[in-house]
Amino acid sequence: MLGVCTALELARRGQGVTLIEGCSDLMQGASRWNEGKIHLGYLYAADTELSTAERLIPGALAFAPLVERHIGRALDDFCTTDDAFMLHRQSVVDADAFALYAGRVARMASEVAARRGERYLSDLSPGFVRRLSSSELAQITCSDQVVAGFRMNEVSVSTVPIADLLVAAVRSDPRVQVYVNTWVESIRRGDNGRMEINARGGSGGELGEFDVVVNALWEGRPAVDATLGIMPEAAWSHRFRAAIFGCGDAAEMPSAVLVTGPFGDVKRYRDGRIYLSWYPVGLLAEGHELEPPRQDARLSPERNAQIQSEAIAALTAYFPAVAAVAANPSLEVHGGWVYAIGQGSLADRASTLHRRDRFGMTVDRGYISVDTAKYSIAPWLAERTARLIVGW
Ligand SMILES: Cc1cc2nc3c(=O)[nH]c(=O)nc-3n(C[C@H](O)[C@H](O)[C@H](O)COP(=O)(O)OP(=O)(O)OC[C@H]3O[C@@H](n4cnc5c(N)ncnc54)[C@H](O)[C@@H]3O)c2cc1C
Repeated sequence: MLGVCTALELARRGQGVTLIEGCSDLMQGASRWNEGKIHLGYLYAADTELSTAERLIPGALAFAPLVERHIGRALDDFCTTDDAFMLHRQSVVDADAFALYAGRVARMASEVAARRGERYLSDLSPGFVRRLSSSELAQITCSDQVVAGFRMNEVSVSTVPIADLLVAAVRSDPRVQVYVNTWVESIRRGDNGRMEINARGGSGGELGEFDVVVNALWEGRPAVDATLGIMPEAAWSHRFRAAIFGCGDAAEMPSAVLVTGPFGDVKRYRDGRIYLSWYPVGLLAEGHELEPPRQDARLSPERNAQIQSEAIAALTAYFPAVAAVAANPSLEVHGGWVYAIGQGSLADRASTLHRRDRFGMTVDRGYISVDTAKYSIAPWLAERTARLIVGW
């Protein structure tokens, strides 16, 4: 998402761009296989200073206008509706604290949108966020592990068709040259100040020299940064998360997330796609080295079948309507990496993963390394990166 959007932003500004991807096609990683939550910050209720919400809201507001400009169509048909946040009994914040937090985030989002004159994918009036009555709660969940529910104005988008449309846009832009199957290993700054990319496979040998290099490699980013002596600013983690993706008749299934901690989500998008995730089942690998532990993250038909059955069983205990989609033949397990400044277990309130405000760009003489942090802010970071390079 970050690489493709940056390429499109630069091409729009008249620049020639070389886009390099290690896989056999663009956008086959985290940006294709995620939940598509366009974060306003509600998930980060343990961050009582609201630092995460403050940093994520501008990117959330920019998401639709920028992506719509790239793909040439509105995103409304790809959104979820009536999203609910369900407070788990073992949440790291209690229901009253969450209610207070959600109200503050709702006001912040509404104020920032009004100040900037920007629109989100749903109504940002603070009154839209409200606690569900017990009968409304009972319509969504049967679990006594859920102590409260909230109707929220945060939406998610269907990431698979958006990925396809973005790839089509970048592939049809004559100013962008795409190399796939080309694995970047290191960067070297030449005596003339230009940079050489050392890559293996594909057309690695023919890449030539570059005036500017943007490292948008997500889980691969720290290892390549390190070849120029750039290290993460604080302790970090790589986690590989798998989830279930599909489409089909799921009219009864809600769009709901269990918060705040290592729980799960069920999502139903307007385009008919669905997303199911149970965090403890889908967390396949975790590491704290420069390279992620790729060998632990491999998916196989047997592993996928196990993830699918265990995640559906766990989610059905909360959302009975999930049982109706369990036999849907379109369901597939896919996953992606999550890189974050922060470590620890989501079950622990003190984990530094409960805030996500420490991300950004490292700029060093034509080398720009960007920590995407979230799908929802990637288009906004891409636009900022292009402005930095071109000056507008
Ligand atoms: C299950 C799951 C759910 C998530 N839910 C949300 C959510 O609801 N909302 C949200 O905002 N975020 C969410 N995220 C996080 C989000 O997906 C990521 O922050 C975002 O997609 C990262 O975008 P990116 O473009 O930086 O990375 P990617 O989409 O992973 O792109 C990086 C690309 O670089 C390539 N690459 C890596 N190393 C190299 C190398 N050395 N050489 C060549 N190519 C290389 C990869 O193959 C990949 O194609 C979720 C993530 C997961 C896994």
